[in-house]
Amino acid sequence: MLKLLKIGQGQSAVVLTCDRCGKRIDNPNVACYTWREYHRTHIDEDAQLHSLKELVTYPLYVDDGKLFTLHKGTCFTQFQAANGGSEYRWPLVELVYLPGLLINNLGMTFAYAEAQFHLLDTMGV
Ligand SMILES: [Zn+2]
Repeated sequence: MLKLLKIGQGQSAVVLTCDRCGKRIDNPNVACYTWREYHRTHIDEDAQLHSLKELVTYPLYVDDGKLFTLHKGTCFTQFQAANGGSEYRWPLVELVYLPGLLINNLGMTFAYAEAQFHLLDTMGV
């Protein structure tokens, strides 16, 4: 989950926390992001979903599109079990890819994002 932490003398930091344990994620190598997807076989068994499947393809399989950030291992496993478990597919993507994907999908360049970061840093925000 994306959160704002208050630190120091009125300063704040935008951070990611684990959606299972709530702790701050400060090492991208031990974390991942995921979302829920319907199993294709379940959609085929449900007549209403099956008719929708004929109108829409891939997006139908994504369950509301909410993204979860989690520590790998126990947090990931426990989060899955508490949120539908094997009833859904749970793609696991390394967290290290997320910032680059966001920069790209926001229509920015890495150089522009870096320049804005340094500008913000000089303002003490
Ligand atoms: Zn965790």
